[in-house]
Amino acid sequence: MTPSVSKAGVLDRGIASLRGIGPAKAELLAKELQIFSLGDLVYSYPFRYVDRTQFYRIIDLLPDQGNVQIRGKLVTLMTKGENRKKRLVGRLRDESGAALELVWFRGVNYLDRTFKIGEEYVVYGTVQEFNGKLNITHPEMELAARAVAEEAATFEPVYASTEKLNKRGLDTRGRRKLIRSVIDQLQPADLPDMLPEYLREELRLISHYDAVRSIHLPASQAELDAAVRRLKFEELFLLQLRLLQLKVSREAQVAGYAFGQIGTHFNRFYQEFLPFSLTGAQKRVLREIRQDLGRGIQMNRLLQGDVGSGKTMVGLMSMLMALDNGFQACMMAPTEILAYQHYESIREYLNGMDLRVAFLSGNVKGKARRQILEDLAAGEIDILLGTHALIEPPVVFKNLGLAIIDEQHRFGVKQRAKLWKKNSPYPPHVLVMTATPIPRTLAMTAYGDLDVSVIDELPPGRTPIKTVHFTEHRRERVFGRIREEIAKGRQAYVVYPLIEENETLDLLALEAAYDEMLVRFPRPDYQISVVHGKMKPADKDFEMARFKNGETQIMMATTVIEVGVNVPNATIMVIVHTERFGLSQLHQLRGRVGRGAEESFCILLSSVKLSKEGRQRINTMVATTDGFKIAEADLKLRGPGMIDGTQQSGVLQMRIADLAQDGRILSVARDKAKDILADDPKLEKPPHRRLGAHLERNLKAIRGWSLIS
Ligand code: ADP
Ligand code: MG
Repeated sequence: MTPSVSKAGVLDRGIASLRGIGPAKAELLAKELQIFSLGDLVYSYPFRYVDRTQFYRIIDLLPDQGNVQIRGKLVTLMTKGENRKKRLVGRLRDESGAALELVWFRGVNYLDRTFKIGEEYVVYGTVQEFNGKLNITHPEMELAARAVAEEAATFEPVYASTEKLNKRGLDTRGRRKLIRSVIDQLQPADLPDMLPEYLREELRLISHYDAVRSIHLPASQAELDAAVRRLKFEELFLLQLRLLQLKVSREAQVAGYAFGQIGTHFNRFYQEFLPFSLTGAQKRVLREIRQDLGRGIQMNRLLQGDVGSGKTMVGLMSMLMALDNGFQACMMAPTEILAYQHYESIREYLNGMDLRVAFLSGNVKGKARRQILEDLAAGEIDILLGTHALIEPPVVFKNLGLAIIDEQHRFGVKQRAKLWKKNSPYPPHVLVMTATPIPRTLAMTAYGDLDVSVIDELPPGRTPIKTVHFTEHRRERVFGRIREEIAKGRQAYVVYPLIEENETLDLLALEAAYDEMLVRFPRPDYQISVVHGKMKPADKDFEMARFKNGETQIMMATTVIEVGVNVPNATIMVIVHTERFGLSQLHQLRGRVGRGAEESFCILLSSVKLSKEGRQRINTMVATTDGFKIAEADLKLRGPGMIDGTQQSGVLQMRIADLAQDGRILSVARDKAKDILADDPKLEKPPHRRLGAHLERNLKAIRGWSLIS
C-alpha cells in the first residue's frame, strides 16, 4: 500500500534528484530497498531508535537492562581464541570507574585494526550477563568526538540497510543524512492531511506532516510516541475505511433474497428435534444470521468457532431458514470424509422431519449421481451436502438460497466464485465457517469486508483435554499410557510430522516408527492403522474407516487427520516431534480427541533441546485449550501473514501498525471508519473529500475478501 502522495509534488521526484545520490546509488536504493522516489524514502520509517539523550554509568548497569548507551575509554583490546572461536574482546572504562567487556565474533580482524586503545567512544548495545559478568556483544562504536560533532543528542533513527548499501555509504548514518535533507525541503503542503480535522481533534492526533517529521527526527520520546500513534491510526483507519467501503458498495450492488419467514421447519426442528439446548453463543450467532438473511442484501458472513463449538448445528439451522422461505441449501466441505460426516450427522439431526437430504462427491457416480442431479434441478432435494463436486457445472439447483462452506480456507478463490454463480438472479447467501480461530485484529483486517460471527463458548459437559509435555527419553511411559487407554477400550492417535521439504526422510521415519510400534503393540492384540498424505485417497479412506469403526486401536498418522475427523472413542493423542509443528496445527490436531464423554489426553513429545520459540509453543499448548488464546500467541510469535486462514489476504503487510499489538487502535479506527461511512457513504462531504480521493488513488488495489470471487 502506498501512503499519501501529493499530486506530482516533491515526493514524486526521483531520489537521484538529491544531492549526493548519483545514478549508481539511486539504482542500488531501488534494487535493495525498492526506494525510487522521495516519497518512498519518506515513507520508509526507521525500525528502531537509539536514545542518544541518555548515557548510563557502567557502575549502574544491570543484567537484562536492554539497550544502553555509555561513554568511556577503550582500555584494552585483544583477539582471543582460534579459528571459529576467534573473538575480539575490549574493555571500556567510564567516569564511574567501572569497566565493561565488549565482545565481537564477526569482523574481528577489521575491527581490531579500526578501534584504538586509549580513545574515548560512545558505545551502544544490549547488556547481557555471561558467566556472571556483564558484557555487550557486537556494540555499535563511535568515536566520542565524532559523535558529538555530528549530531545533537536526540532519538536517533535506525533504518533498514543491506551490506551493499553499507558499502556505498548508505548505512543508517547515510540514510539519516538523506532523510534529513528531504525533510528539510518539505512544506506542510507537500504532506497534506487526509484525516478530517474534526477526527484529528477528537482523537488528539498530530498532523500528518508533523508525524512524518517526528517519526524520522523525534526530539523526545513523547514526540515519537505521538508520531507513532498518529501514523498507526492513519494506516489502520485508511485500510478499514477501504474495506468497509467495499462492503458498503457490494451491499448496494448485490441484492439477495429476503428470508422474511421463520417457518415450520425451523420451529418444528427447534421444538421437537433439537437434541440439546443451544449455547448462548450459538443462539447469538443464529440471531445475527437471521437478521442478515432478512435484509434483502446478499449475506457474506464468516463464522468462527473453535473445534467442537457446534458450528454444524448453526449451519443446519441456518439452512432451515432458507428452506422455510422456499429455497434449497447446500454445505460444502473440503474432503470426502468431512463432507460425509456432515451428511451423516445432519441426516440424524433431521431424522423424523420430512426433508430430503442428499450427498454428492466425485465418488457418487452413474445412476445415483444422475438421480441426484435430476432431483436437485426439480427442487426435490432440500439440502445437498458434499465436496467441491457440488459446485461443478453439471450441478444445477432449482433455487439455491444459502450456501455454506466449511473450513473455508481450504477452498480456493475460483471455487468460491463458482458458488456465487450457482443461482440467479441473486447469488445465494454465503456463510463460511472456520475452525481455525483467527485473532480479532486479523479477522477485522483479513476479512474486513465480511461480517464476522464468533462462537466463543463450548457446549457444556465437555471434560477438558489434559495436555502434558514429555521429552523423548520418556517414550516408554508414553507407550504405557497408550496401552492403558486401549485396555479401557479406547483408541489412540500417534501423530508424526511430515514436512514437504523433508518428505522422503519423514516418510522413512514414519515407516521406522511403524516397525517399532508393531513390536510394542503386537498383533493380534493390537491393530494399527497408518495414514499419510502420500497415500492414495481410497487407501486413506479405507484406513480411516477401519479406525473409525474400531477395527484398529491405534492410528499412526501425519497431519492429514487434522481436519474435522470425528472419532469420539479416541481419547489419547501423542504428538511426536511436537517442536516441528506450528501452534495452530497443534491446536487442530489436539481437537481430534476430547470428542466423547471420557477424559482425554494429549501428550506432546519433544526432544530435550528446544528453541525458545519451540518451548513457548509447547508451553502455550499445555497452558490453554482455548483456540483464540492460542491464535493470539501464534500471532505474537510469528506475526501476521503466517497465520492459517489469512494467507490469501494481501492486506496484512503493514508499514507501521502491528496487528499483534495495536488491537485498541484498530478497534477505534474501524469504529470511526464505520461512523464516517454511515454519514457519508461516498465520502463526498467536504471534510471527507480528500479522504475519498486518497483511497481512490492509493488503496484501489485492495480488494475485499468476498469480492475476490
Ligand atoms: P464444530 O464447530 O467443530 O463443527 P460440531 O458442530 O461438529 O463442532 O459439534 C461438536 C459436537 O458438539 C457434536 O457432537 C454436536 O452434536 C455437539 N453439540 C453442538 N452444539 C451443542 C450444544 N449446544 N450442546 C451440546 N452438544 C452440542
Ligand atoms: Mg465442523
